[in-house]
Amino acid sequence: MSNVDFNEVDKFAQLASRWWDKDSEFKPLHDINPLRLKYIKEQVSEPLKDKKILDVGCGGGILSEAMALEGANVTGIDMAEAGLEVAKLHLLESELNIDYHKIPVEEFAEQHPGSFDLVTCLEMLEHVPDPSSIIKACAKLVKPGGQVFFSTINRNTKSYLFAIIGAEYILKLLPQGTHDFDKFIQPAEIDEWARESSLALKSMIGMTYNPLTKVYKLENDVSVNYLCSYSK
Ligand code: SAH
Repeated sequence: MSNVDFNEVDKFAQLASRWWDKDSEFKPLHDINPLRLKYIKEQVSEPLKDKKILDVGCGGGILSEAMALEGANVTGIDMAEAGLEVAKLHLLESELNIDYHKIPVEEFAEQHPGSFDLVTCLEMLEHVPDPSSIIKACAKLVKPGGQVFFSTINRNTKSYLFAIIGAEYILKLLPQGTHDFDKFIQPAEIDEWARESSLALKSMIGMTYNPLTKVYKLENDVSVNYLCSYSK
């Protein structure tokens, strides 16, 4: 049974040519990328240089490239062919070396168990039919002692107002229909799935956006967007 929602993957494939346009639908991902990288580096507390990293649901490679720029040995997987093509083309410009593949993470985990120092899976769990299966696969892919990072959107009244009404309808930061409220995930849900996969929570942090200053920040408020790190 496939754990891919092809409607979701198609949404990203349609926009693929704009992955590296910082004024496009992907502007929010470009804007939050330095914060995400900072969080990952702090949690790893060693240089990313030469670390073997898997970026799950890598899209056009915004995070994959940032980690490769730190000297990490990055592999990116996604199910949207068009996004991966853009990611590969962008390597010609960035002159980085990243291995991109179109393969479901569960299948990749069968082939490469315990192979990565770090696994990142950001802004992707809220687009799949069964997030627990993705988490299980990420846990299988990371080496014992390694770390896994997830980020997603919480599910409550505030996140509905901020992440859907605010971001898609009022501020128009994202196309309407980007997110489906029912697929948002509460921190306790991620944590339960992670624990079932023998991952231990290391830290969790919120990411907030101030529409007046247009500034994103990492804060202790996980009510809307949040990131978490797990160790195996
Ligand atoms: N992780 C990237 C991209 C987030 S956008 C970043 O944060 O910068 C969500 C990505 O998840 C898209 O590229 C989409 O194609 C991918 N995706 C959605 N469902 C997927 C699935 N089942 N398997 C792999 N990738 C998936």
